[in-house]
Amino acid sequence: MVGSGLFGLTVAERAADAGRRVVIIDRRDHLGGNAYSEADPDTGIEVHRYGAHLFHTSNPTVWEYVNRFTTFTAYVHRVYTNHRGVVYPLPINLGTINQFFSAAHTPDQARSLVQELAGEFDQKAARNLEERAIGLIGRPLYEAFIRDYTAKQWQTDPRELPAEVISRLPVRYTYDNRYFNDTWEGLPTDGYTAWLERMADHPRIEVRLSTDFFDDRQPANRRATVGQVPIVYTGAIDRYFDYAAGELGWRTLDFEREVLPVGDFQGTSVMNYADADVPYTRIHEFRHFHPERADRYPSDRTVVMREFSRFAGRDDEPYYPVGTPADRAGLLAYRDLAAGEQGVHFGGRLGTYQYLDMHMAIGSALSMWRNVLCAGDGAA
Ligand code: FAD
Ligand code: UDP
Repeated sequence: MVGSGLFGLTVAERAADAGRRVVIIDRRDHLGGNAYSEADPDTGIEVHRYGAHLFHTSNPTVWEYVNRFTTFTAYVHRVYTNHRGVVYPLPINLGTINQFFSAAHTPDQARSLVQELAGEFDQKAARNLEERAIGLIGRPLYEAFIRDYTAKQWQTDPRELPAEVISRLPVRYTYDNRYFNDTWEGLPTDGYTAWLERMADHPRIEVRLSTDFFDDRQPANRRATVGQVPIVYTGAIDRYFDYAAGELGWRTLDFEREVLPVGDFQGTSVMNYADADVPYTRIHEFRHFHPERADRYPSDRTVVMREFSRFAGRDDEPYYPVGTPADRAGLLAYRDLAAGEQGVHFGGRLGTYQYLDMHMAIGSALSMWRNVLCAGDGAA
């Protein structure tokens, strides 16, 4: 198993439960991939090292599975955005629309207004993110809340980005400002790392950290293992093939952590910054993810993280696939190469070059186990 993120851990746990012996390697010095979290050394507040992670799903199989390893708090995610110094609720809802147009529209009035504004594009026929967004909410709301934020986040013209990226954000004609539409959501009660470690806590699972698959000096390297044992690879697919079909575009994030001498900096967990003149996309204030821990967290200090986005070079952590038309052509070439790689199964966000939330990574890992590995090739 190359990679100890949620995809790798799920396949490993299922395989170990079925009697297989699994070695997980990860090049990082901790397990858990991007969902990893730790106590901030100055405040004790749980910080998500690779950016805020909110668990949500409507998939009963995934929900049942994750509850074997952790319980979840009652946290409900809400996000606000700062546009020209005024704070608005997200995702775009009746509150956002009325505040933006200084109006008191009813749901039907707001819907008619947005329909009129959105007439420029048919969102169903949209060829890219900009057309889909304008077809959904109209140009004024698009330019205020989406255009510059998206350009900052993706460093790519919204007309080059796939339309699906924006479909993740709902638009509502009520005052409901829950960020996610899913049946279940919450945060792992005793933290992400406790959850992730429990998944690997099995006598048939061995975890080797600080171990890179491409480092020939360590025994579980590519040369020594491919063709010898079944491999699940969850690193970047272009890296696996030594960039034979070119580099796929990835975005990486830089986080600037700061401890501030106040009990509450922004009154909420995530504040987006919609405008181009603010260089970061959002500020996370981690204490707000766990209101139930208020008596354990300090009342005179808080920890925040500013998130900056940029293109990933080869030495950066690849976080988000960009997915321009050129990337999609490259991906097809890599899929052909992957199909010819006997005994190696490509999975997870990096291995399939897909935008996968945690529940999707877990769901697809459960399918890979059930439909591919459990049956035959996985025998070890
Ligand atoms: P990863 O977690 O990336 O794990 C891959 C692992 O492979 C890493 O640990 C890496 O070190 C290892 N690896 C790579 N190359 C090698 C190599 N050569 N040798 C050894 N090991 C290697 N999902 C949500 O549901 N909600 C959220 O709010 C959310 N927020 C996110 C925010 C950010 C900034 C990011 C980046 C992701 C977010 N996600 C969120 C998605 C979530 O992180 C993924 O769904 C989940 O981590 C996928 O797990 P994975 O196993 O596919 O990949
Ligand atoms: N988005 C935006 N403005 C916002 C929030 C989101 O334009 O204030 C767009 C942006 O293109 C982003 C997409 O909606 O990539 C999906 O947002 P989400 O919050 O799901 O992104 P993530 O948290 O995964 O980075």
